[in-house]
Amino acid sequence: MNLPSSSTTLANCTPKLGLLQRNTLGIESYAEQAIVISKSEQIPLLLQDIKAHGLPWQVLGGGSNVVLPSVLPGITLLIDIAGKEVLSSDRTETLIRVGAGEHWHDFVQWTLAQGFPGMENLALIPGTVGASPIQNIGAYGLEVAHFIENVQAFDTEKNGFVTLSNRECEFAYRDSYFKQNPNRFIITQVTFKLPKAWAPKLTYAELAKQFSNQSPTPLEIFNAVCAIRSSKLPDPKVLGNAGSFFQNPIVSEAQCTELANQYPAIVSFPDAVGQRKLAAGWLIDQCGFKGKRIGPVGVYDKQALVLVNYGGGSAQDILGLAKQIQDKVQETFGVQLQIEPNIF
Ligand SMILES: Cc1cc2nc3c(=O)[nH]c(=O)nc-3n(C[C@H](O)[C@H](O)[C@H](O)COP(=O)(O)OP(=O)(O)OC[C@H]3O[C@@H](n4cnc5c(N)ncnc54)[C@H](O)[C@@H]3O)c2cc1C
Repeated sequence: MNLPSSSTTLANCTPKLGLLQRNTLGIESYAEQAIVISKSEQIPLLLQDIKAHGLPWQVLGGGSNVVLPSVLPGITLLIDIAGKEVLSSDRTETLIRVGAGEHWHDFVQWTLAQGFPGMENLALIPGTVGASPIQNIGAYGLEVAHFIENVQAFDTEKNGFVTLSNRECEFAYRDSYFKQNPNRFIITQVTFKLPKAWAPKLTYAELAKQFSNQSPTPLEIFNAVCAIRSSKLPDPKVLGNAGSFFQNPIVSEAQCTELANQYPAIVSFPDAVGQRKLAAGWLIDQCGFKGKRIGPVGVYDKQALVLVNYGGGSAQDILGLAKQIQDKVQETFGVQLQIEPNIF
């Protein structure tokens, strides 16, 4: 029988769904119960049912920024809401509303094909559009916050759909209101605002070098970003990973100067006034972890910021290695590394 989507309940869940193909770290995991959410109208009644039964629940997008346990308890909502709609386009900007389940990279590629440039530096980041605001994804000198007009979500505290403006999302470096309030919002759609005025963003050294004395097109930048990323990061289909496993720590100018006196080669970038961002990969590399393997997991040999799963590694293996790295970096540099992926 074809039920209307608004009548989705616990009875529609699939038991014991394997998640090995749904997390890029390649951890063998399964959801006790899982359900595909392809329409936002499915959410209210389902959440009501979940709450009535006192069950735990969580949301999974593309699984590219999570560390999963061997069993995900309760109900796992697999977000698959599709759709891209140009709401308006005038001489100054284009507004586009996108379903949370759309694939991020495909969406970026689509914007360029439609003649709406701007997000080319964010090409090839894995995952879904709906997850992009959670940690305010960023790369090569740009963050998604720059392009988000608002975010539509089901607020499980208010029991209703809400729209959060860009300001209300409280975006910061790899952070947002959603990340600060875990398991409160189920993001259903994101509206992007792409300005018509375009200029290449080439602050990242490798892009600047490649296009010195040139005026690249958005597509040329898109292709360059894809090529650089492919040469530096392991393909999760080949080697399990969740991209950068640690955030770049932000320290005061004073602490950075002190560290630079002791370690003249330390890599840092300007951040907010009076602060600098340290390259976490450099710190980890100096502690001798690059390429190190411990059982089924290890540190990628081309980029110390990436932890990899050679196969059969569990959350415990990954988090055990992460703890060793955090302790050593703390002991050596007096800097605390924060884990970037979400630990379920
Ligand atoms: C090879 C590789 C490279 C990467 N490079 C970058 C990079 O350059 N920059 C960067 O910022 N990140 C990067 N990442 C991390 C990752 O791609 C992003 O964080 C991405 O946004 C995660 O999307 P996802 O759909 O896979 O989310 P998931 O991993 O499924 O989920 C991540 C978190 O978001 C929550 N979530 C997901 N969807 C929703 C929703 N619809 N509503 C509410 N909550 C939701 C989940 O509950 C979880 O807490 C990389 C990852 C990999 C594997």
